[in-house]
Amino acid sequence: MEHIRCLIIGSGPAGYTAAIYAGRANLNPVLYEGIQPGGQLTTTTEVENFPGYPDGISGPELMDDLRRQAEKFNTDMRSAIATKADLSRVPYKIIFDNGDEVEADSLIIATGATAKYLGLEDEKRYAGMGVSACATCDGFFYRKKTVAVVGGGDTACEEASYLAGLANKVYLIVRKPFLRASKIMQERVMENPKIEILFEHNTIGLFGEHGVEGAHVVKRMGEADEQRYDIAIDGFFLAIGHKPNSDIFKPWVKTDETGYIITEGDSPRTGIPGVFAAGDVADPHYRQAITAAASGCKAAIEAERYLAEQKL
Ligand code: NDP
Repeated sequence: MEHIRCLIIGSGPAGYTAAIYAGRANLNPVLYEGIQPGGQLTTTTEVENFPGYPDGISGPELMDDLRRQAEKFNTDMRSAIATKADLSRVPYKIIFDNGDEVEADSLIIATGATAKYLGLEDEKRYAGMGVSACATCDGFFYRKKTVAVVGGGDTACEEASYLAGLANKVYLIVRKPFLRASKIMQERVMENPKIEILFEHNTIGLFGEHGVEGAHVVKRMGEADEQRYDIAIDGFFLAIGHKPNSDIFKPWVKTDETGYIITEGDSPRTGIPGVFAAGDVADPHYRQAITAAASGCKAAIEAERYLAEQKL
């Protein structure tokens, strides 16, 4: 079995930043990139709030820069998905879907989070045929069409605004009577004439012959004045939050009810010596590229200290 001093799983801002720091500390990091190399930011258009880019930068470009920076410091980049972990004793064992089996003295879990779906059968039925969880990936196909975005947070508002730049009309389907998004994002959607917000609405199904042609929605579901009707749409975009990718680590590390890995205070320590969690997989609160990058940095510094103390 291959022996690794510092194993990093995940390739978002947390994973790549951990690799930059671990590489510069001569830990010879090995980074497995997983399902979506570059992580969630590769599905974003413009990033305006990452310090150092006064004119903004595209998500894929930012991730490419971080990746190249990690490679510059001798990170061994690999492509495979971790499928099993045994963190019962040192060295920790991880198995990947390409058959790789490795043991690691230290482990940085930076596996991020994945978009959530409503759980409707129709979401599966129309997957790739009108249902998407990424407006910036698929919005292009809906130029001059009508789409719906589900959710009331910053992501939903951002995606609705982005889609309004392409589509003729955007419904924003919000289950509560208010938006949860930040004030600036709320204003942006409220002021956009192409966006119609359907407050207190739930989607219960989709319909269409060869792809999505509409959604069955319910206003004030379960109330005496409940109203059921259909809206005609060509695309249905989910923006209702994310699920942390922590499943294979759950038998070993503490997680909250959603699955976010619980770390010790502000540190990336998981409670298992030499195992650290960084980025969205351990962050239910901030989930920003910059906070993920910062926690990746902390995790690498912790890994370096741990390896030095243990003389590994
Ligand atoms: P949030 O958890 O903030 O919002 C999720 C939204 O989806 C809520 O409106 C929620 O409704 C709704 N929702 C959840 N489940 C369902 C369901 N089953 N049916 C219908 N609606 C549902 O997630 P976001 O992805 O929007 O944001 C995550 C974090 O990332 C936040 O901290 C946000 O501020 C940040 N972010 C920042 C950005 C920026 O700064 N540029 C851009 C994007 C995100 P309810 O309110 O009823 O719970």
